[in-house]
Amino acid sequence: MAPRSRRQRHRKPPLSVAPPTVVTPVPLTLPKSGPSIDTLGFFSLEKNVPGLSQVILQKLNMKSYEEYKLVIDGGTPVSGFGFQCPQEMFQRMEDTFRFCAHCRALPSGLSGSKVLRHCKRCRNVYYCGPECQRSDWPAHRTVCQELRLVAVDRLMEWLLVTGDFVLPSGPWPWPPEVVQDWDTWFSMRGLQLDATLDAVIGSHAMTTLWTSVGRPRPDPDVLQGSLKRLLTDALSRPLTLGLGVRALGIEVGKIGGSTVHVIGASHVETFLTRPGDYNELGYMFPGHLGFRVIMVGVDVATGFSQSTSTSSLEPGTIQLIGHRGLYHDFWEEQVETGQIAHPDLVVAFHPGFHSCPDLMEAWLPTLLLLRDYEIPTLITVYSHQELAASLQILVDLDTHITAYGANPFTSLKPEQVYSNPNKQPVYCCAYYIMFLGSSWQLDKRQLEDKVDGGV
Ligand SMILES: [Zn+2]
Ligand SMILES: [Zn+2]
Repeated sequence: MAPRSRRQRHRKPPLSVAPPTVVTPVPLTLPKSGPSIDTLGFFSLEKNVPGLSQVILQKLNMKSYEEYKLVIDGGTPVSGFGFQCPQEMFQRMEDTFRFCAHCRALPSGLSGSKVLRHCKRCRNVYYCGPECQRSDWPAHRTVCQELRLVAVDRLMEWLLVTGDFVLPSGPWPWPPEVVQDWDTWFSMRGLQLDATLDAVIGSHAMTTLWTSVGRPRPDPDVLQGSLKRLLTDALSRPLTLGLGVRALGIEVGKIGGSTVHVIGASHVETFLTRPGDYNELGYMFPGHLGFRVIMVGVDVATGFSQSTSTSSLEPGTIQLIGHRGLYHDFWEEQVETGQIAHPDLVVAFHPGFHSCPDLMEAWLPTLLLLRDYEIPTLITVYSHQELAASLQILVDLDTHITAYGANPFTSLKPEQVYSNPNKQPVYCCAYYIMFLGSSWQLDKRQLEDKVDGGV
């Protein structure tokens, strides 16, 4: 998600020489000192949440989708592979949640006949005994209901991975300007979506899933709610790009297509991402002349399209490209040399530069580059608290913030902070910030406009 290097190769004017500026007032309560990583759950989210891809990659010792598919299809896995059958896989996934949410005891550390038992309401947290459960309830009660959804979603997500849940697709039947949020999006997809969800709920894959996981199958309305949340989670990223294109007034009728850079991209954006996954961005702009979406980051998944060719882009199509490396290196080697078109929009999903000095140091050259080249930029954060902290940093850097707020296309799938299950779950891309250039450039532009206008 974040560039790792501390090098600052981008030739930038030192901050201290920037002319004095009028800083955009930010009407938010800002934390006095920098918020800790743990408070924000940023690293917890990144490193510890056993979201499916993390579990696949690490806990299950799985290297590729092909390996996984082989086992699911009944083939013989390579030696050292993490599991032998779907039941074992789900068991292993569940094991990563098995610790007492109150005293943190692990199964191996329990005395005598004690066993970990899950909370009956959410089935998502475990306790070593009634005392721990009772003591934990005041904290757990505030999140129990939401964690109930987490426990269902993390199993249902498997159907997206296996391709048994295919997202509804095809051009939007409604004028795109009508579709401003999930409510209107769901109304627009209406009957088509209901048919898709009913088919998934009645599928053989759904039956196999619930017989493999060792817990009763929930009611159809619970399954439907989960599929809808997963859908928002998958489509949140392309639609958030669209939000940026709309709000920042990006030209989509440009000959040769428009270019979007997704920077600080990691396996989250690229592992299991399929070529059609960003089609929704295209449907948002009927008549567009092509979008080239380039994922740039040191953790771009291996196997994700590495082509950086600028082969011509067909009107109406979306090209997804990966580039493994740091953004400012990519900029110098590919953009400055003219091999790749200048971005029309840059997007960073959860850059997290507010969460610790190391990440800030790593992001600084990129943020200054985007500011100084006046690249329309959109970043997303997980929570209101992160929004406040990130805004403060961008204001301090004199960026000209054009908009910020709650993302109408946020993921609706709650994310548990794994290391502390009683922390309020958060949502991917919950808030956005857009900026364009610096506030002093803006002052200069306004002055020039006035001069041009003869004032
Ligand atoms: Zn305990
Ligand atoms: Zn509970």
